[in-house]
Amino acid sequence: MSGSFLRLFKYPLCFVVLYLGYFPVSYSQIMTVQGKIDSESMGTVLPHEHVMVDWVGADQTGNHRWSVNEVVARALPFLQEVKQKGVTTFIDCTPAYLGRDPLVLKKLSELSGLQIMTNTGFYGAGENKYVPKKVLEASEDSIAGVWIHEFFEGIDSTGIKPGFIKISVDANTQLSSFHQKLVAAAALTHLQTGLTIVSHTGSDEAAGQQIDILKKMEAPTSAFVWAHAQNGTMEGNLDIVGQGGWISLDGVNADGENGKKNIDFYVQRLLVLKERKFLDHVLISQDAGWYTVGEENGGSFRGYTDIFEVLLPELKKNGFTPEELHLLMKVNPARAFSLKPVKY
Ligand SMILES: [Zn+2]
Repeated sequence: MSGSFLRLFKYPLCFVVLYLGYFPVSYSQIMTVQGKIDSESMGTVLPHEHVMVDWVGADQTGNHRWSVNEVVARALPFLQEVKQKGVTTFIDCTPAYLGRDPLVLKKLSELSGLQIMTNTGFYGAGENKYVPKKVLEASEDSIAGVWIHEFFEGIDSTGIKPGFIKISVDANTQLSSFHQKLVAAAALTHLQTGLTIVSHTGSDEAAGQQIDILKKMEAPTSAFVWAHAQNGTMEGNLDIVGQGGWISLDGVNADGENGKKNIDFYVQRLLVLKERKFLDHVLISQDAGWYTVGEENGGSFRGYTDIFEVLLPELKKNGFTPEELHLLMKVNPARAFSLKPVKY
């Protein structure tokens, strides 16, 4: 893994950009692990989930640490279960060096019939434990070059292409200079590929600073998804949607006392967003899964059905119309994740 990374790292950005002429980007499509599809065929979407995670750190991880067949066997029943609930597209948010394996996802897509998306990017949260050391010194152009290369050429030698950029930053009041660089590299990558930027972000301040960087680089704020926006305040969420960004309320979990662990929180936040007419900037998911590398048979695995079994019925009880639920589960993800026009 690290060997091939070093090779890619020398890829000059300007060379990669030349590919654009030969691979025109379609504006109404999304990239799955099995290739491009029209965004209208996304159907019902889970926009932030995980199949597998490896917490060991960038210096030790690699696909020598798991068996593709074992991970697939463990995750498949959960994907089949959620397909039964009507889900057609599953967005896997596990980044490189944290257990991203496009071959696992492609096999699961073939076996389950779900459309699955994977990502490019680096995960800075956790004080850069999941970022290769070499990257910490690299320029934003070089980092973007690695991600752009994955979009046009595929990940490693698999030919499987990312459908979005996944980055993450620590929830400090001030972004570190390296995390600012990650955001700038994501903006550059967006401008040249049309890929949406999903950023794991734990505070209002960190979200606001990322939007500022995008604006400064003339990347549209509509290309930014604040992942884990439930960890920010209501005011922070409203600030980001007011500036055109997306908020991903992606920690839905009914697995607690009386089976409604945090459902009321989500209902309340969605009611406010509805009242303020921002439901068209919201994504809902569960951050569930996952096969944990290093634990026996992946350890405990949380299924992906709480939204369908608990949250959606609760939203209906609270006056949400079928059209509003359609917006949340189908229209919004298709808009958020479709490839955007590329700036030449
Ligand atoms: Zn996640």
